[in-house]
Amino acid sequence: MPGALDARNRNDAVRRLAAGPLDLLVVGGGITGAGTALDAASRGLRVGLIESRDLAAGTSSRSSKLIHGGLRYLEQRDFKLVKEALRERDLFVTRLAPHLVKPVPFLYPLYKKVVERPYVGAGLVIYDAMEGTKRPVPHHRHLTARGALRRAPALRPERLAGAMVYYDAQVDDARHTLTVARTAAAHGAIVVTRASATSLLRSADGARVTGARVRDSETGRSFDVLAGCVVVCAGVWTDLVHQLGGVQAGYQVRMSKGVHLVVPRSAIDAETGLIARTDKSVLFFIPWGERWIVGTTDTDWTGDRAEPTATGADVDYILAAANRVLAKPLTRGDVIGVYAGLRPLVAAAADTPTTKLSREHVVDVPLPGLASVAGGKFTTYRLMARDVVDAAVADSPRPVPASVTDQLPLLGADGLPAVRAAAQRLAEDHAVPVAAVEHLISRYGSLAGEVLELVLADKSLGRPLLDGYPYLRAEVAYAVTHEGALHVEDVLARRIRLLIESPDAGVAAAPKVATIMGSLLGWGRRRRAQEVRGYAEFAAASCEALQSPADLPESAAPVPVPA
Ligand SMILES: Cc1cc2nc3c(=O)[nH]c(=O)nc-3n(C[C@H](O)[C@H](O)[C@H](O)COP(=O)(O)OP(=O)(O)OC[C@H]3O[C@@H](n4cnc5c(N)ncnc54)[C@H](O)[C@@H]3O)c2cc1C
Repeated sequence: MPGALDARNRNDAVRRLAAGPLDLLVVGGGITGAGTALDAASRGLRVGLIESRDLAAGTSSRSSKLIHGGLRYLEQRDFKLVKEALRERDLFVTRLAPHLVKPVPFLYPLYKKVVERPYVGAGLVIYDAMEGTKRPVPHHRHLTARGALRRAPALRPERLAGAMVYYDAQVDDARHTLTVARTAAAHGAIVVTRASATSLLRSADGARVTGARVRDSETGRSFDVLAGCVVVCAGVWTDLVHQLGGVQAGYQVRMSKGVHLVVPRSAIDAETGLIARTDKSVLFFIPWGERWIVGTTDTDWTGDRAEPTATGADVDYILAAANRVLAKPLTRGDVIGVYAGLRPLVAAAADTPTTKLSREHVVDVPLPGLASVAGGKFTTYRLMARDVVDAAVADSPRPVPASVTDQLPLLGADGLPAVRAAAQRLAEDHAVPVAAVEHLISRYGSLAGEVLELVLADKSLGRPLLDGYPYLRAEVAYAVTHEGALHVEDVLARRIRLLIESPDAGVAAAPKVATIMGSLLGWGRRRRAQEVRGYAEFAAASCEALQSPADLPESAAPVPVPA
């Protein structure tokens, strides 16, 4: 099956990787690395991708999950970036990933009648205009205070002067990353997770990087992978990977932590997303199925890159900021989940030549045979990938075609309307509710049928994984056979988002997940127990902030609405 990352065949993939030589070895399996592997493989190159942990285990599963131009950047007058990002947004919504990237309306409440409406309104006119004439999302609209409260009764009515409604798009970031990696595999890329670059190989004269030493953390074995170019897409680990090769790159990566809270949909009465100003930036209320994602924060981080954690103070900050605009305050009791991610921000080093392709991302070739890219946004990953592959192949002995990813729908995008139209029939044929088929289509697009095939083979897989949640047991099996999941954490944190969506962070589902995975991967009782225990520890550490003592009283008192 092209594009299936079958965890049962991982050893084959490792063997093919080690056999080399490759044109490109991509280090890092976040959205940037997955996009780079796809860009290069679809230009006909031999590509390998290694990821230390799991696909999207770094920042790419911990974002605000918006595919957006970014109103904030407009205010900073970064028109080029906003325009590029809006073009990308529209390309994903219409052609590349309509099953994954979906338009979402946001309501922007206004409190200063005279100055705010013309200011925000003018910004949104520019935002809309930058998108061009063929628009897949509606234009922004002005609302009166009454109109705003009709759409969002949750807003505090005092001093509300009106609102604007505008559109952006949202995505399940981890699923999108996985789908890009699978699409890369469908074009021939070898994708291996739980494999880290531990050093960079050099030519005899030391002038060129010729590959990387790779450690397989599943087996403990190390091997060399030879490649024409190693491409570093390691997000906040970028400086560390450069250090592995003793390389001084033209920029450094700074880490900034962003935290989000997850609350039930019923806690905030609104039919659109909300965006509210804070002292430093903005706060998003993003609809997420039966829940809201609320965030984010922006603080320096110097701790563990792999597991950034939220603190009690982060939780309280978000609650207080949210309660500036909400009539019924959110309390810690409303919070189901919390997650933290690290923004890889680039800081150019003055004394080394750097190719600054846009204000947001930086591509560098510090040594022949080594290229790297960092910064940017999830939304612009396709452009980052194109730019770093261009740089990586610039000294290639044979001509390499230009990027074609703007014409390449991701797996699951082709044939989407027909699969949507067939939902009722698929439900009948597989004896599952129509809602279950619609749920699968919203996550796998036209590949939903592959998940349903597993139900045909084993009816028990058509049952819900956990009562009250839409996920089917078949999705766990599919995560192993098609999505490269090797551990319970891979399933509950990223293939299925119970880590952030359920009050127990998915711990109740872990034994069932271990049983389904174990039956495919040959796990005995001891291994299953170990996986369940490991997941419970991981989940407890992720949610620690919700247990830590509140810096504010349990029922955070509303603070005044912005003046
Ligand atoms: C709080 C927050 C909110 C955000 N919201 C948005 C948003 O709404 N929209 C938007 O467009 N962008 C958003 N972003 C930005 C976006 O999430 C990031 O730009 C993007 O996810 C970075 O992806 P990446 O692949 O570069 O890094 P990562 O996803 O971190 O991937 C790097 C990978 O490299 C791996 N790695 C490291 N060292 C090695 C090694 N030696 N060998 C092998 N693998 C290695 C790591 O394990 C990791 O998985 C947000 C970011 C944050 C933090």
